[in-house]
Amino acid sequence: MSHAPFQGRIARFDQPGMPFEIETVTLPDIGPGEILVQVTRANICGSDVHAWHGSFATRGLGGQLPTVLGHEMVGVIHALGDGVRADSNGAPLTPGTRVVFPYFFCCHTCRNCLAGRRNACLNLKMAMLGRADEPPYFVGGYADYFVLPAGAVLYTVPDSVSDEIAAGANCALSQVMYGLERVDQQLGENVVVQGAGALGLYAVAVAKARGAGKVIAIDGVPERLELATAFGADAVIDITETTDKQRSKIVRELTDGQGADVVVEVVGHPAAIDEGLKLLGQFGRYVEIGNISIGKTFEFDPSRFVFANKTMVGVSLYDPAVLSRALDFLAEHQHTLPFDRLATTAYSLDDINTAFAAAADKRDVRASIVP
Ligand SMILES: [Zn+2]
Ligand SMILES: [Zn+2]
Repeated sequence: MSHAPFQGRIARFDQPGMPFEIETVTLPDIGPGEILVQVTRANICGSDVHAWHGSFATRGLGGQLPTVLGHEMVGVIHALGDGVRADSNGAPLTPGTRVVFPYFFCCHTCRNCLAGRRNACLNLKMAMLGRADEPPYFVGGYADYFVLPAGAVLYTVPDSVSDEIAAGANCALSQVMYGLERVDQQLGENVVVQGAGALGLYAVAVAKARGAGKVIAIDGVPERLELATAFGADAVIDITETTDKQRSKIVRELTDGQGADVVVEVVGHPAAIDEGLKLLGQFGRYVEIGNISIGKTFEFDPSRFVFANKTMVGVSLYDPAVLSRALDFLAEHQHTLPFDRLATTAYSLDDINTAFAAAADKRDVRASIVP
């Protein structure tokens, strides 16, 4: 790292459409319960790209500008505030321990937290929403450091799991694990995954690990479809070579005429929803994750929904405890599934504008910043 002791860099995000500015700031004092994490890798997730373009307004969530984007990350403990000795599983923490943590922070005491719905915490705080022009400055992942607030959930990364593989755990992987848990995907059920970016590839892997009968992945990028097969998809459908009617027919044929039991939407386009709902069979459950741009709508015929007893589940964030199991999942499956292929290109923090241009072009499945 190219900074003096007691200082670190942030990639300051002033407003959508503007280049990031690299700024060197003073390390904040770490208060009781807080943890200063040195970021070792931060992926560029779809929502970071949306925020950069302005189609995902962080201000709509109470966010302030300038801020620091980046939330899908891994790091090492740099300094521990008074009173912090262990991770959320009770494992001891010391400077140098590699950790991951949910990028949102719950109060653990509000009505929703007490009901076990921590992702709907009424006092939720999140990376990427705090101000970057005042201490503690390090409020997002695209920086040398990140300040974890007191009470944050965090887990030690197993030594066997590399940063490349661990970095996707706290957003994409935990999100799809939680999504499939929300619809209670059962052994032998057929699952369609719309979109084979990182979320979709994790969804394929998790659905198979949960015992899915057939997993069918839909995308328009040949490399992603090839990856979907490598992650365990039983069939892939290329949207550039099929019409929506043909895709529906293919899914029916692959599911003995029944349609899918579960469809996961991680395309992020509202038009995908109408098609995805049609791919479901009786009592099918639709997991809606991808559409995070406010104001985008689609038309659909509710009678088909009623007559087929379908359910649609919106999934935002995840239960923090899922992240611990996500690490176990990576440790267990990393030798049989090509998780390393999701971390294709690493860019230095100084090259973050190049990295975002590449991510926006979808040239990389997951571009990463390695500060
Ligand atoms: Zn994300
Ligand atoms: Zn709460």
